[in-house]
Amino acid sequence: MATTAEKNLNQIWVDAMADMRSTLGEKTFNTWLSKLGLIELDEKRLRLSAPSNFVRDNVVSRFADSIIKILNSYGCAVDSLDIEVYDGNNADTSKNSKKFNSRLPQDEFDNFKNISVLDKRFTFKNFVVGKPNEFAYAAALRVAESVSTSFNPLFLYGGVGLGKTHLMHAIAWYIIENHPQKKVIYISAEKFMYLFIKSLRFKDAMSFKEMFRNVDVLMIDDVQFIGGKDTTQEEFFHTFNDLVDNNRQVVLSADKSPSDLDGVENRLKSRLGWGLVADIHPANYELRLGILQSKVKRHKTKIPDKVLEFLAMKITSNIRELEGALNRIVAHATLVGRSITIDVAQEVLADLLRANEKFITIDVIQRRVCEFFGVKLSDLNSAKRHKSLAMARHVAMYLCKELTTKSFPDIGRSFGGKDHSTVIHAVKRVKEYATNDGSFAINLEILTKSLES
Ligand code: ADP
Ligand code: MG
Repeated sequence: MATTAEKNLNQIWVDAMADMRSTLGEKTFNTWLSKLGLIELDEKRLRLSAPSNFVRDNVVSRFADSIIKILNSYGCAVDSLDIEVYDGNNADTSKNSKKFNSRLPQDEFDNFKNISVLDKRFTFKNFVVGKPNEFAYAAALRVAESVSTSFNPLFLYGGVGLGKTHLMHAIAWYIIENHPQKKVIYISAEKFMYLFIKSLRFKDAMSFKEMFRNVDVLMIDDVQFIGGKDTTQEEFFHTFNDLVDNNRQVVLSADKSPSDLDGVENRLKSRLGWGLVADIHPANYELRLGILQSKVKRHKTKIPDKVLEFLAMKITSNIRELEGALNRIVAHATLVGRSITIDVAQEVLADLLRANEKFITIDVIQRRVCEFFGVKLSDLNSAKRHKSLAMARHVAMYLCKELTTKSFPDIGRSFGGKDHSTVIHAVKRVKEYATNDGSFAINLEILTKSLES
């Protein structure tokens, strides 16, 4: 990685904010951090502007530490943060609706025409491909590469944090690089609606329609937000038809398939599904690990493989959280200046691990293991000790330790009041079996996977 001197401090700031976004999630980030402006960043001090005292105070009390830690992890030794409240035009004029309404700010549209705020890290090269996303990846790449519009629209869908925005930006980057004459617009559905409503309100001659009708590639992210908004939907429908009829490429993303979109007119739903619909499935263990291994290379700090495996095993919700977890670990390692162990990771990520644990409980594990070994739950939690039962119990205890954050005594208690040393013994035995017996190891892996998915 480049040293601070080599690397522009502004760029570090942009990267740090991108990390914060993935750590905190879109909603929190947008509420608090997206409104901050960078005034100055040098090796000692970070100066930011905030739109109000309220935002400033919250940022200082809740996020200042993490911001500094992340900057440190990029090799910038900053240790203090000042936030100035910027009470220039923006915050105050918005309260004064008259003044604010007088004109649609020209730069809003100008900005928007060049828009496409694209994350430079969201490229095809940085996208790790595995079974759950290979189809969406191939479709996105094909659309980026093709000169004609063979799949129109491309509709990418999948749960939150699985890489939809990443793939859309990747398409945009690819086209910008390879066909610089093409006009590409990437915009969130929310922004699309916002601009549309504004243009209605200002009856602005500089037409909203015109802007979109001149593009070669239009990408609208998170179109589920269009649901229920009738006039915007109508406008969207026309814009969409115009573009497709004129052979312009349209790429859309949503959290659901076209037919499952709520509050969207049927004719629009069916139109959206005309091209190629590709879904991204939740990442499996291999993909999660692959992504971590690829992301860790961005950081100077070394994180042991075991810790990466641990994260990939435990953080199953989505890639954004997985990245957030990695960033936290890296920040921690940088601060304490020594290598991270699984125990430390467990401590640093306690809240995330708890959240990810919610679907795997001791009860679920016990039931699944009983099913697998064909034993009764009441027997599993009894004092009976015959061989097959003892084996099932050992495996169940082991899985509880691996897949939940419960302690040895907690686990013991949940197995009909056994002692913590029984659980420690069980975990040890299972590890031994797994090392010595290949078919046992395979079964254990199958069981683990069946619980995780
Ligand atoms: P979505 O738009 O589906 O909610 P994003 O595209 O914002 O999700 O992805 C969330 C984060 O996870 C981003 O930082 C993105 O780079 C990362 N990510 C998702 N999938 C992959 C992948 N296959 N390879 C590398 N990074 C990924
Ligand atoms: Mg997204």
